[in-house]
Amino acid sequence: MAKSDTPSIVWFRQDLRLADQPALAAAAAEGPVLAVYVLDDETPGDWRIGAAQRWWLHHALKALADALAARGVPLVLRRGRAAEEVARLAREVGAARVHCLAHQEPWWCAAEAALAEVVELVRHPGRLLAESGLVRTGTGGRFRIFTPFWRALQQQMPPPAPQPVPESLRGMASPPRGERLEDWDLLPRAPDWAGGFAHWTPGAAGAAERLETFAEEVGGYDQNHNLPSIDGTSSLSPHLHFGEISPATVWHALARRTGAEPYLRELGWRDFAANLILQLPDYATANGRPAMDALRWRTGEAADADFRAWTRGRTGYPIVDAGMRQLWHIGWMHNRVRMITASFLVKHLLIDWRRGERWFWDCLVDADYGNNSVNWQWVAGTGVDSSPFGRIMAPLVQSPKFDASGYICEWVPELARLDDAAIHDPHAAGVAPAGYPRPRIGHREGRERALAAAAAARA
Ligand code: FAD
Repeated sequence: MAKSDTPSIVWFRQDLRLADQPALAAAAAEGPVLAVYVLDDETPGDWRIGAAQRWWLHHALKALADALAARGVPLVLRRGRAAEEVARLAREVGAARVHCLAHQEPWWCAAEAALAEVVELVRHPGRLLAESGLVRTGTGGRFRIFTPFWRALQQQMPPPAPQPVPESLRGMASPPRGERLEDWDLLPRAPDWAGGFAHWTPGAAGAAERLETFAEEVGGYDQNHNLPSIDGTSSLSPHLHFGEISPATVWHALARRTGAEPYLRELGWRDFAANLILQLPDYATANGRPAMDALRWRTGEAADADFRAWTRGRTGYPIVDAGMRQLWHIGWMHNRVRMITASFLVKHLLIDWRRGERWFWDCLVDADYGNNSVNWQWVAGTGVDSSPFGRIMAPLVQSPKFDASGYICEWVPELARLDDAAIHDPHAAGVAPAGYPRPRIGHREGRERALAAAAAARA
C-alpha cells in the first residue's frame, strides 16, 4: 500500500507491545500512526479491570508510552466507552482506518462490532497461538473438550514467526491531546496494599526478561510445575494477559528446547479458554452444565463468614491460607494452589464458584475472563469439560503430596517453626500456635455436605 500522510489508528487493549504486534505493523506500513489506549470502565460491566490489574496497567502503559515515545509516537490516553472514543478520535484526525488485535471477551467482541459500523476496522490475529477460526472439529464446529482441541491446535503449529518492531513506525505531525496517566489513579494510595507487587516488572522488557530466565528452566517444568514451594513455572501469565509478549514469541523461544512439550500444552489451555468463551460468552456467570443450576449453594451469615475467612487466608487449612495470602500479597497464586483453594471454597464451604471468581478477578494481576471462568468452572464441576462435582480434592492430602511446607512457611509465617509432619495440619498434630484458626469445617464433614448437596441437586 502506498504511504500517505493520513494517519491510521492503533487501538491498544490487552496487546501492550510493539514487537510482533500485527495491528501496529499494519498501521505503520500505511503512514503516520496514532496510538490510542482507552480506559473503559463501562463496556466490560462487572468485568471492568480489577484493583490488582489497575496497578499492573499503570506500569504497563507507562512502559508502552515510553517505548512509543522513543520512536516519536505519543500514546494518546482517553477515558470512556472505548468504541465511541476511538470513533471520535478517528473523526477528529480523519484517520484512514483503525487497526486492532481481535479480542475474545464478549464485551470486546461487541465493541469491535460497534466500532466497525462507523469506521473501517481491521482486526488482526495475535492474542492467541492460533487464530481463533483455525482450530475446528472435522465438521467445522468448535471444541468443548481440551484434549481434541489441543490435538487440532498442534496441527496449526508452529505459529507465524514473531515480527520485530516495525522500522517504518512514525507518529503524526500534530497528534491530538490525551489525558495524563497519573490522573487515572490506577495505583492504590491509602492504604497502599501493593508493596508486595514489587515482585513484578510489568511491560514488554519485564516479559522478555522473564521468558529468557524461564527458557533455561523449561526442561524441568514437567517435574516442577506442581510444586508451589519452588519457582517452577514461567510466571508469564500477567504479561500474556496484557499482551506484553505474544504467545507466538513464547512458543518460538521454547519449542525446540528439550522437555518443552508439557509447557506448550499448558499454554494451549489459554487458547482453549478463549475458544470456549467465544462459544459461551456468559461462561463467567452461567454454569456450563445447566443441570448444576439446581445445586443449592450456601448463603447467609455463616456462609459469608466462611467466605471472608477464605479471602483472608484464615480457614485453618495451611495450604489454603498460604494460597490466599500469596494472592493478596503479590496478586498471583501458584496454579496447583489455585485449584486447591478454589475447590475448598466450592466443595468444602459449598459457596458458589461465582463468588470466588469475583474475588480472583479483583485480586489477580493475571485476571483473564476466559482463563478465570474456564478454570473456576472446571474446578467446580459445573463446566462443559470438567469432572463431576463429586470429585473432591483433599487439601490435607494435596499439601504433603506436592511438598508445600516451604510454601506454607513463606506465606503463613506463624506456622514457619513447625516441622514437615505437622505443618500441613497443625491442629490435628496438636501444635497449632495460639491465634491460628481452627479449620472452618472438617474434611470429612465438608465432603459429605458437598456430596449431599450434589445428590439433592440430581434428585
Ligand atoms: P505456567 O505454568 O508457566 O503456564 C504458562 C502459561 O500458560 C500461563 O502463563 C497461562 O497463560 C497459560 N496457562 C497455564 N495454565 C493454564 C490454565 N489452567 N488455563 C488457562 N491458561 C493456562 N490463568 C490466568 O492467566 N488468568 C486467570 O484469571 C486465571 N484464573 C484461574 C483460576 C483458577 C481457579 C485456576 C485453577 C486457574 C486459573 N488460571 C488463570 C490458570 C493458571 O493458574 C495460571 O495461568 C497460571 O498459574 C499462571 O502462572 P504461570 O504463568 O507461571 O503458568
